[in-house]
Amino acid sequence: MKHLIVIGSGIGGLGVAGLFGKKGYRVTVLEKNANFGGRANIFEADGFKFDMGPSWYLASDIFEHYFKLVGEKVEDHLDLVKLSPSYRIFFKDRNMQVDIQSDIEKDAAMFDSIEPGAGEQLKKYLKQSEYQYNVATNFFMFKNYDTIFDFFNRRVMTEGQKLSVFSKMHNFVSRFFKSEELRQIMEYTMVFLGTSPYEAPALYNLMSHMDFNQGVFYPQGGFYELIKALVRIAEKNGATLRANSPVAEIIVKNKKAVGVKLESGEIIEADLVVSNADMQFTETKMLDTAHQTYPDKYWKKRILAPSAFILYLGVKEKLPSLIHHNLLFSQDWRKNFAEIYKNPQLPLDPSLYVCAPSVTDPSVAPAGKENLFVLVPIASGLEINEAEKQKYADEVLAIMEREMNLPDLRQKIEYKRIYTVPDFAADYNSYRGTALGLAHTIWQTAIFRPNNFSKKVKDLYYVGAGTNPGIGTQICLISAELIYKRIHGIKDPEPLENL
Ligand SMILES: Cc1cc2nc3c(=O)[nH]c(=O)nc-3n(C[C@H](O)[C@H](O)[C@H](O)COP(=O)(O)OP(=O)(O)OC[C@H]3O[C@@H](n4cnc5c(N)ncnc54)[C@H](O)[C@@H]3O)c2cc1C
Repeated sequence: MKHLIVIGSGIGGLGVAGLFGKKGYRVTVLEKNANFGGRANIFEADGFKFDMGPSWYLASDIFEHYFKLVGEKVEDHLDLVKLSPSYRIFFKDRNMQVDIQSDIEKDAAMFDSIEPGAGEQLKKYLKQSEYQYNVATNFFMFKNYDTIFDFFNRRVMTEGQKLSVFSKMHNFVSRFFKSEELRQIMEYTMVFLGTSPYEAPALYNLMSHMDFNQGVFYPQGGFYELIKALVRIAEKNGATLRANSPVAEIIVKNKKAVGVKLESGEIIEADLVVSNADMQFTETKMLDTAHQTYPDKYWKKRILAPSAFILYLGVKEKLPSLIHHNLLFSQDWRKNFAEIYKNPQLPLDPSLYVCAPSVTDPSVAPAGKENLFVLVPIASGLEINEAEKQKYADEVLAIMEREMNLPDLRQKIEYKRIYTVPDFAADYNSYRGTALGLAHTIWQTAIFRPNNFSKKVKDLYYVGAGTNPGIGTQICLISAELIYKRIHGIKDPEPLENL
C-alpha cells in the first residue's frame, strides 16, 4: 500500500486525504496548527464562535460533486440554508442600498429601478455567465495543464473567444451596464479571486452565475462545519490526521521525494508527498535551491492577492440594519483598487465586507447578541504597527456607523480582535501575509499558474489555492481532484465520474 503524506490540512489537503484514502492509499496529513482547515479556521471567545476565513458557500454543485466522489452526500454532513436575500449592498456616500435576491425577476426589477433597461441586460449577462460557468466546469477547471499546447488548443481558442478569456472584466461589464452602482455589483466578486476588475479576465464573469443564479448558502453551525465534514470523511477512509506537526523539510533522494522531516526532528517516509502549505513556502523553505521549481526570483515577480484587515467583533445587541452578508462599496472604485495593488496603503476610502452569521445562526453568538466579521481588503506585505491598527479599526467602525445605519456601534462592542497581514504570515506561512495567494490575473491562470507538480522532484505535488484552478474553498477541492487525476494518469477535461 503506497504511503502518501499531505503537508497541511487546508481544504485542498483534506480533499486529497479523502480521495486517496478512499482509493486505498495510506494517507498521513501533517498540520502545523492546532486546528485543521487552514484558512477556513475557527476560534471561540466570550461565547462568540468566529469563522476566521471563508463565509460564502457558493457553487454548491462543486461541493456536491466532491462529496459524491468520496461516496458521501452533502446533506448527511451539512445543514445548508439558502440565504434570502443573498446579500445587501450599501453604496458609500450615496445614501443608497439594495438587496440581491438571487431571483432573476426580482433582481431584474431592482436593476431597472437603478438604470432603465438594465433588467433585460442583467438577464442577458447572467445567461452568458451560466454558459461560461458550464463550459469552465466541464472543460477547463477539471483539467491539468502540462504544456502551452494544452491551453492554447482548439477548444480554448474557439470557446476562449466566446468566453472572453482575453478581455478584461471591467470592459466586459461596461458593455452591459452604464451606472457605476450596477457595474460595481457585477465586478465586486473579483475581490474573491484576489484581483481587480481592471486586471481580471472577463471569463470570471462566471462568478455571477454562482451568486445570482445558484444562490448563496450557509452551513448551520458555521463554515467550519465543512471542515469537520472533510476531516470526518478523510478519517472514515483511513487517513491519519496529525495537528501541531509542522513540517520543516521535504526529504529528497536521487531527485525523488521520499518523506518529510518535522520541526521536532521526526522523519516520516513516504512514496508520495503532496504539499498543501503555501507554495512559496514549500518551494523556498522546505526544499534546497537545487530542487526548487519556483525559486525566490519567481515569487518576486508575481502579483499577490490582497491580504485583509479583519475585525472579529462581539456586539452586545442585535443590529437590524444588517443581514447575513453585507457589502459596502466606496464610490471611487478605481482608486480603492489602486490602494490595494498599485500604491499599497491602508485604504482611505475603503470598500468592505461585513458578515453577521448570527442573523441566521443562533449558535454563533449568545442570545440577543451579534457576531460580526468585518473585512477590508488591503495590500499584502503592508506593515502596520499596533497603534495604526487600532486607529484604522476605529476609522472602519466609524464608516460602518455612518454608512450602514449602525449608530453607536463602537459603544456596543464587547469583544474585538484584529487580524491582519503578519497574522496570515505567522498562522499559515503565507507569503507576504496574503490572505488568498496568487491573484487571478490572466498571466496567473491555468497554464500560467504554478503547476501542481514539481519539475525538479519526482513524486512531489502541490494542492490548494496556489496552484490550479486557484482560490476558493470549492475550487481547492477541484485542485485535489486534479492531483488525483495526475497521479493516476487521467487526462479527461471533465470532472471524474468515480475513483
Ligand atoms: C478571510 C478569507 C475569506 C475567504 N472567503 C471565502 C469565501 O467566502 N468563500 C470561499 O469559497 N473561499 C473564501 N476564501 C478562500 C478560501 O478560504 C481559500 O482559497 C482556501 O481555504 C485555501 O485552501 P488551501 O487548500 O489552499 O489551504 P490553506 O487554507 O492555505 O491551508 C494550508 C495549510 O497548510 C498548513 N501549513 C503551512 N505550512 C505548514 C508546514 N510547514 N507544515 C504543516 N502544515 C503547514 C497551514 O497551517 C494550513 O493549515 C477566503 C479566504 C480568506 C483568508
